[in-house]
Amino acid sequence: MDIHEYQAKEVLSNFGVACPDGALAYSPEQAAYRARELGGERWVVKAQIHAGGRGKAGGVKVCDSDREIEEACENMFGAKLVTHQTGPEGKGVYRVYVEAAVPIDREIYLGFVLDRTSQRVMIVASAEGGMEIEDISAEKPDSIVRATVEPAVGLQEFQCRQIAFKLGVDPSLTQQLVRTLQGCYRAFTELDATMVEINPLVVTGDNRILALDAKMTFDDNALFRHPHVAELRDKSQEDPRESRAADRGLNYVGLDGNIGCIVNGAGLAMATMDTIKLAGGEPANFLDIGGGATPERVAKAFRLVLSDKNVQAILVNIFAGINRCDWVAEGVVQALKEVEVDVPVIVRLAGTNVEAGQKILAQSGLPIIRAATLSEAADRAVGAWRNDLSQATRVRAVS
Ligand code: GDP
Ligand code: MN
Repeated sequence: MDIHEYQAKEVLSNFGVACPDGALAYSPEQAAYRARELGGERWVVKAQIHAGGRGKAGGVKVCDSDREIEEACENMFGAKLVTHQTGPEGKGVYRVYVEAAVPIDREIYLGFVLDRTSQRVMIVASAEGGMEIEDISAEKPDSIVRATVEPAVGLQEFQCRQIAFKLGVDPSLTQQLVRTLQGCYRAFTELDATMVEINPLVVTGDNRILALDAKMTFDDNALFRHPHVAELRDKSQEDPRESRAADRGLNYVGLDGNIGCIVNGAGLAMATMDTIKLAGGEPANFLDIGGGATPERVAKAFRLVLSDKNVQAILVNIFAGINRCDWVAEGVVQALKEVEVDVPVIVRLAGTNVEAGQKILAQSGLPIIRAATLSEAADRAVGAWRNDLSQATRVRAVS
C-alpha cells in the first residue's frame, strides 16, 4: 500500500526525521489560509497523488502570495495529474500540501528498500539528489552509495557516518544525517514498510537537513498489525478493481487484457498468465483465490473478474493438492448459478479427485468448456475470446 507524501512525512517525523513545516488543504481558499497560519513569505504547493515526478508535471509550485497559492491550486484541484509514473490516465488531485519553502544548498537521494539477494534492508543514497534513482543509476552510477543492515543489531551509527562521509556531507551535519537515517530505518522495520524514499533530502542554507519529499510503501500482508497505517489508505489513488479485491481478501492485480483468470496459488496464477500469452491472448488480471477455494470464494472471484468490463472469457485453473477437485467443481457450478456470467468459461482441474470433479462439471448442464491441460485451457480461452463469442458457448446462468 502506498501513502501520500504528507502522510509519509507525518509518519517519519514521529521517528525523528526532520521535515519542513506544512499543512494539508482540500480547497484553494483553505490552502491560502493554511499558508498564512504557517507564516513566512514563500510557500510550496504540492499536489498529493500516489506517484512521483510531480515537479516536472506541474504538481509542485513555489508561490509568493495568497493569489499565487490559490491560482496554483485552481490548476491542480479536480484535474488529473499525469507524470511519468502515473500512466497516461493520470491520478486525481483532491488534496494539496502547503509547505514553508526552504532555501536549498544541496539535494541528496535517500532510499530504503528490501534487497532480496542479501535478505536485508538496503540503504541506497546518492549525492545526485532530485533526479529519479533510475536516472541516477543510468547516468551517475558511481555516485550511488549502498549499505545493508544486519537485522540482529540494526542500523549502526558507524554505518551512518560512513554514508555521510561518502556523500560528502559537512562534518557539522553528520549528527543530523545519522538521526535521519536511523529514523527512516526504524520506521521501515517497525511499521513493516517495503520502501522509504526521500528524494530530495536537502541541506538548507541555514545548515539543516530536511526531508523535502517522502514516499512510503507498506507490506499489505502486515497491515493488520498496524491499524494506524492501514487507515492512511486512499482509495481514490488506487485501481478500483484492486481496492474491491483487497476488501474481499483476494489477491488481485488488474491488467489490460481480456481473459479473466481465476486460479489457486500465486505461482500457478503466474504460470496461467504466461500460458495465455503463449497462446496469443492477454490476461485481464492476476488472481490468486488461495488454497481453500470454497464455493463462496469462487463466487466472489467470478463477481470480481466480471466487474472488469474488458473481460471476454474466463479461465479457471485449479490444482487441488490439499483441496479437492470435486469441492472446487461444486464451487464453480454454484458460482455460475448465483452469478450472471455472460462470457465463455473454461475450466481446467488437476489433482485430488479430478475425475469426480469433471463429472460434476459435465453433469451440471452448464455450458462449461472443459480442458485437460493448462495449454489446452489457454488455447480454448484464446479461441473463445477470438471468435467463439456466439451464444452456443456462452454461459448464461439463471439466478
Ligand atoms: P516529485 O517531483 O513528485 O518527486 O516532487 P518533490 O517533492 O521531490 O519536488 C520536486 C522538486 O521541487 C524538488 O526536487 C525541489 O527541487 C523542488 N522543491 C520542492 N520543495 C521546495 C522548496 O521548499 N524550496 C525550493 N526551492 N524548491 C522546492
Ligand atoms: Mn521527489
